[in-house]
Order: sequence, then C-alpha cells, then structure tokens
Amino acid sequence: RELPGDPRTDAIPREVLHACYTKVSPSAEVEKPELVAWSESVAKLLDLDPREFERPDFPLIFSGALPLVGGLPYAQCYGGHQFGVWAGQLGDGRAITLGELQNSRGERWELQLKGAGKTPYSRFADGLAVLRSSIREFLCSEAMNGLGIPTTRALCLVTTGKNVIRDMFYDGNPKEEPGAIVCRVAQSFLRFGSYQIHALRGKEDLDIVRILANYTIRHHFPHLENMSKSEGLSFETGQGDSSHIDLTSNKYAAWSVEVAERTASLIASWQGVGFTHGVLNTDNMSILGLTIDYGPFGFLDAFDPSYTPNTTDLPGRRYCFANQPDIGLWNIGQFTTTLSTANLISKEEANYAMERYGTKFMDEYQSIMTRKLGLVKYNRQLISKLLSNMATDKVDYTNFFRLLSNIKADPNISDSKLLVPLKAVLLDIGKERKEAWISWLKTYIQELVSSGIPDEQRKVAMNSVNPKYILRNYLCQGAIDAAEQGDYEGVHRLLKVMEHPFDEQEEMEKYARLPPAWAYRPGVCMLSCSS
Ligand code: AMP
Ligand code: MG
Ligand code: MG
Repeated sequence: RELPGDPRTDAIPREVLHACYTKVSPSAEVEKPELVAWSESVAKLLDLDPREFERPDFPLIFSGALPLVGGLPYAQCYGGHQFGVWAGQLGDGRAITLGELQNSRGERWELQLKGAGKTPYSRFADGLAVLRSSIREFLCSEAMNGLGIPTTRALCLVTTGKNVIRDMFYDGNPKEEPGAIVCRVAQSFLRFGSYQIHALRGKEDLDIVRILANYTIRHHFPHLENMSKSEGLSFETGQGDSSHIDLTSNKYAAWSVEVAERTASLIASWQGVGFTHGVLNTDNMSILGLTIDYGPFGFLDAFDPSYTPNTTDLPGRRYCFANQPDIGLWNIGQFTTTLSTANLISKEEANYAMERYGTKFMDEYQSIMTRKLGLVKYNRQLISKLLSNMATDKVDYTNFFRLLSNIKADPNISDSKLLVPLKAVLLDIGKERKEAWISWLKTYIQELVSSGIPDEQRKVAMNSVNPKYILRNYLCQGAIDAAEQGDYEGVHRLLKVMEHPFDEQEEMEKYARLPPAWAYRPGVCMLSCSS
C-alpha cells in the first residue's frame, strides 16, 4: 500500500467509515498557475508578509502543486440533509485542508484549498473548481467580512492554467472553463453534517459524535468547558417545560444553545443586508456560525422575499430569501437531534436550544431593522408595511436604505417634497403608489421626530449599518468576464470597494448602481449548485 495521503490510492471515491477525515494531498493538474488576487487583511490574520505573495513558488504552493512545509493535508468526512432529505456521506469532495497555523495572537487558522483535486468524498465529480465560481467565493468571503458578517475568509485565488469541463445548464452543452483554486481560511470548517454523519450511521459510531463534540468544545468553545456549577450562570426561560433547563450542568446543552444562537444571529444579519445563501443544506451550516460555501448565492437587488438565486432550487424555492430564518431553525433541529441521538443532550435540552434560536433571531432581526431605519424602538407595523411597499414596487433593497438616511425629521414637509430624497429608487411608480409611499413616510417621520435623534447623527448611524456597496451578481459577472480574458483588474477593484462597503468611496459610485439591462438576459448571472 502507498503511504497515506498518496492521491493515487487515497483519493478513490468511497464510503469512509468510522473516521472524521482522510489524509489526502492536492492533486489538481496545474500548468503555470497564476496568482489572481489576495486579501491583505487575511494575510495580516496569518502574519503573512506581503512579500510572500511575490514568491515565484507562491502559486505552486497555493494550487497544491508544491507541498506547504509543515502541512498535513486532509479532507473531512461529513454528511448532510440536502433540500430536506438525508443524503448520506458527502464530505470535502474538492476541498483539502493543508494544515493549521497559529498566529502571534495565539489564534489557530486552518488553510484549505478548494478545487485542488479528488478526495475519497468526490463521489461522481471531478474535485475541481472553475475561475467563475472561485472569483465569486473569493470576493464574497471578503465582502461579507467587510459587512461585519461572520464568514470563512479567502486568502488568495490562483488559476491552475488547466481547463475544467462544466455542463452549462442554460444551453446544455459542456463548456471548457479555466480552473482555479481559492485558499479558504477559518478557525474551523466543521459543519452540522460533520456530527450528523456519525449519529446516522448507527450505534457503533455514536462515540465519534461525542469525541468530535469534545474536540469542538475544547478548541472552539473553551468557555463552556470551563463552566462549572458554582461560577456558571443559571438560565431561566420563564415558561413551559424548558424553565428547568440548567445549562451549567451539561456542556453539550450549553454548546447546542450557543450554536443555535450564533446561527440565529448569522441569519438575522443576512436578512439585514439581503444576502441569500442559496444552498442551506446541513452540510453548509458552520458549527461556528460562519457563512460557509459560496455557491449560487445572491444579494437582493429589487426587494423580493421569494428571491432564489439557485436555479436548482426552482420552482420549490426552499432556500429563498424569506425562508432562510425558518430553514436555520430546521437545520438547528437536525443538529440537536444529532446530539440527542448520541445521548449528549435530552429531548428537553434539544427543544430549549430551538426555542433559543427563535428568541435570538427575533431579537437580532428586530434590532437590525430598527437600526436600518435609524430608530430607537422596534416598530413591527412600520417595517412590515415598508417591506410590502418595497416588494410591490420592486425597490432596490440596498440603495433604498442608504438613501433613507437623507430624510429629515420634519413633520411640516410638503407631500410633494417628501419623495425627493428617494427619487432614485422609486422609479416608474404611478400616482396611487406614490400616495402609498407618502403615507408610509409620514408615519416614518413621526417616528423619527419622537426618537429625538438629530438628522446628522442619525444619518451617520444609518450609514454605518446600511451598506452603500454590496457584491451584486452583475458586478461579479463583469469581473469574471474580464478575468476569463486574463484581466484581473476588475477583481482587484471589487475587492477594494467591498472591503469598505459603508464608506462613500469617490470614483467608485458606479459600483453602487442598479443592475443594467444585460444582467436580466436569460443565461446571464444564472447560478446552480456546484461549479
Ligand atoms: P455543495 O452543494 O457545494 O455544498 O456540495 C455538496 C457536496 O458536493 C460536497 O460534498 C462537495 O464537496 C461536493 N462537490 C461539489 N462540487 C464538487 C466537485 N466539483 N468535485 C467533487 N465534489 C464536489
Ligand atoms: Mg458545501
Ligand atoms: Mg459548494
């Protein structure tokens, strides 16, 4: 037998039983790989000197053609519920973790290549990634971080110099596309599915759930490990069965609550910026509450609760924008079921974690929407009327909130002037709809007046939560088209803009524009699950 990690033997697709990972080395073919882009802020996280990116062997190391000294490459085993159905073993089919490094602040970061060749988990697919999807993942990881939303990060993006064949779904013909590899960075890539797979494989693997849970808590939730009855807090829910749940007596129960709450906050922050993940299967749910796996994601342009960027998810729309909060709960339900199957938490503790998901989501969502409006007090009616108006008139979600900060808290303003600050987003609306907006604005202005916050101060606060720039699909597409012709300037510029999405950036105005007509043509910006 070859040594472990030899791709000739260890990358053979198979069921990997009783194990959390498999040693396997990158094996994607490369020919003069090129560095397309890298993130300065991720380099800082890793204490990487910017000069490292100029090394001639850098693209070779980050395409997997040369080993990373000190690395121990492996692929993780995990399963998942895909579109609500248990799909069995999935695993890192094209992601290979190179290893983990500790920075000068004592933080541990995993470096993972996505698109670096087959692993035992590749099933029927090729283990590769195309430039188009890799640019999207690279840019969106950093754009989410710029928005202050927890996410896996992206250190760099390299082309492999080799083409990859993909079925282009809109004309059905296979097409060759340039191959590429993103180096993702996170403190952990563990997902709900990493635990599920062992609980669902049967009794003999339940112990693995416990071992992996212990590992996770020790490394990523150490505050729960050290919690003891005497120093811990006692949690009271105030009603129902769960009022007696004492999280200090069971670290797994405390952990399930923390995972539930992190997931709830994450999804609330997605709703706040109009991000739709696209494939919220349980294998794409990070145990740390990070946004993970950028595939057919999309940010809302015109507000549409049923927005579904993933064409594979039509017409069911399971993962549409408005469903994400419920799907988060469903996924937490799968996670807590896993822990109770492994006898780590009781049924009551599982229910309690789900309850806490609901409470946390509502708290966070209400607070985000209140801040987006520049108010101090949550007003459910005002917000739901606003969203229904936005849906009716297909108003741009990002630009609307950004412009809203120009409204003055002046109750005497004449009806004809009310809509002026919002002119650029209230396009082509008839008389009746204008009246609906005027009526909403009048109520809004009353709320502003009663909040007592000076206009200028409110504007600054609103602009710090309502981004000016988001990574719209059409912007990605423009950068991709140029990159496929060897011009990476567009990727670099988008990265720069999206790193500071709340700032007014001179000469970058065009990145805040609404999608142009070409973005709506059939086939353009169409996205499916895995490419
Ligand atoms: P996703 O829908 O992107 O979460 O992927 C679901 C599963 O398919 C995961 O196990 C991925 O690793 C695997 N997968 C996706 N694309 C590929 C590919 N090109 N080669 C091998 N495995 C893949
Ligand atoms: Mg995935
Ligand atoms: Mg994916």
